[in-house]
Amino acid sequence: MPQKRKLKYMAKKYDAIVIGAGNAGLCCAATMAKNGFSVLVLERNSVPGGSATSFRRGRFEFEAALHELASVGTKEDPGSVMRLFSYYGIDIDWQYEKNAFRVIADGDGGYDVTMPAGIEDFCREMERSVPGSFESTLAAFKLGAKIGAGFNYLSSGNVDPQVLFSEHADFLRAVSHSVDECLSSLGMPKKAQDIFKTYWPYLGAPTSEIDFAHYMLMVDSYIRKRPAMPHLRSHELSLALEEVIVKLSGEVRYNCPCEKILTKDGKAYGVIAGGEEIYADAVVANCFPDTAYKSLLDPEAVSERALKIAGARKISSLFFSVYLGLNRSAEELGIKDYSVFLFDTPDSGEQYERSASLDTTSMVVANCLNCAVPDSSPEGTSTVFITTMLREEAWGDVRPEDYKKLKNKFAKKLIKLYENKMGISLMPYIEEIAIATPATFARYLGTPCGTPYGYELRGWDTMLCRIMNAKNEQAVENLYFVGAHGERGDGYSTTYANGHSVGEKIAKGVQKNGRS
Ligand SMILES: Cc1cc2nc3c(=O)[nH]c(=O)nc-3n(C[C@H](O)[C@H](O)[C@H](O)COP(=O)(O)OP(=O)(O)OC[C@H]3O[C@@H](n4cnc5c(N)ncnc54)[C@H](O)[C@@H]3O)c2cc1C
Repeated sequence: MPQKRKLKYMAKKYDAIVIGAGNAGLCCAATMAKNGFSVLVLERNSVPGGSATSFRRGRFEFEAALHELASVGTKEDPGSVMRLFSYYGIDIDWQYEKNAFRVIADGDGGYDVTMPAGIEDFCREMERSVPGSFESTLAAFKLGAKIGAGFNYLSSGNVDPQVLFSEHADFLRAVSHSVDECLSSLGMPKKAQDIFKTYWPYLGAPTSEIDFAHYMLMVDSYIRKRPAMPHLRSHELSLALEEVIVKLSGEVRYNCPCEKILTKDGKAYGVIAGGEEIYADAVVANCFPDTAYKSLLDPEAVSERALKIAGARKISSLFFSVYLGLNRSAEELGIKDYSVFLFDTPDSGEQYERSASLDTTSMVVANCLNCAVPDSSPEGTSTVFITTMLREEAWGDVRPEDYKKLKNKFAKKLIKLYENKMGISLMPYIEEIAIATPATFARYLGTPCGTPYGYELRGWDTMLCRIMNAKNEQAVENLYFVGAHGERGDGYSTTYANGHSVGEKIAKGVQKNGRS
């Protein structure tokens, strides 16, 4: 990988500069480039993708982040990700997983179930595991579909209140209620609710506070379209997006952190990077607003209101991941499941509460990529990727002198937990191991506390609140933010969509108002 791409376009003034080549930054840049914009992307790392990347250890190439991608679908029935990639002219070799997940929950009322993808199959399996739950499970998906239609209508930008009230009444009824409230009101039995809430860690907030609407948009996109993975890991996706930008005469500079965003009279007009001033009509930041306000902008450029909003938001979950390269195949080790959630209690609220401490591992997700992509490691080998989610409080008190010991101890705990719960031995077969702590993610991504998830979407700050309030949040004219901290929160499909929609908004604005 060259450290700096060959520059195709040497102008010092661009239509847009994008700070950060994460999912959202790449899509925003690609969309603007497709609209004929001259675009410069600045990335502090040496490869594109941010979280969406892979890394090598010995003979293994590890997927760094992706457990499963939502909203991909098939060529015959494309989801939003496939449609967006088609718009860019990108063709990915997608691999699909037949099951949504296996979940093992310990404790009173615990269970071990494998839920298939596909709505009918999912509901049938729920009925088999929890008799009397078919109708309420199906009702949740039906309500989810209505919510999706309601969101699409709201996002169309052309909202007639009469149509909203008459055609999207169920959307309005459900939209601001939590997952717990809606599932209970649908009469779903407790155990079925617990199973249904398995995906909550993907949104990083408790189901008593996540909007049902938001949760269903995610669950529906996994279960209806089936979880998907690119054949060559996330890096394939990030490289393909980078290629689109470069082919459309955009530039991507690596090892090139943005040091400052330039502003004058309340407007952004460029950046400083690599020691030079570079100018643009629009600046897009794929970093957190907190980070930009504190370290990239002059203090007087940011209003007190913007600082207060950023300060009031709660940093979402942190991750601790262990990547294992094993010198046995998945079959030899007896690994049959691609994705397994391991909970130490069936109660999702309790799982969330316990993730505030390093004493427990209440929520763990483990993946063996070979079960979905058999040739993802050399023949006769396999990889296992174990992740737990931690709240900011859990990691806050770790002292530098304890770091190494704690990191190794915690990684060992996760491996043992997998071995015990799955009845599968991993330790004797470890050929390569890599451990990523919240500090690793913080160093690599530059996000506050290392979260890959943005801010928690809860309380006054749910997805709907953010969408409705978006136009009041722009702190500096011509400066836009994209990423997991945005309106739709974390995840591949959401950050792609977020970057694309901001790219379109900027392109349309410039087409309407003209370039400066
Ligand atoms: C272990 C793990 C597992 C995950 N599993 C899943 C999953 O299964 N499914 C799913 O959908 N999502 C998953 N996610 C979440 C998903 O990866 C993220 O939400 C998403 O990739 C975030 O994208 P982003 O656009 O916010 O950018 P980020 O990935 O945060 O990238 C931002 C980029 O900006 C760059 N940058 C920051 N500041 C500057 C600067 N000043 N100058 C230049 N560059 C800068 C950074 O270097 C980085 O490359 C997972 C994440 C992790 C870490």
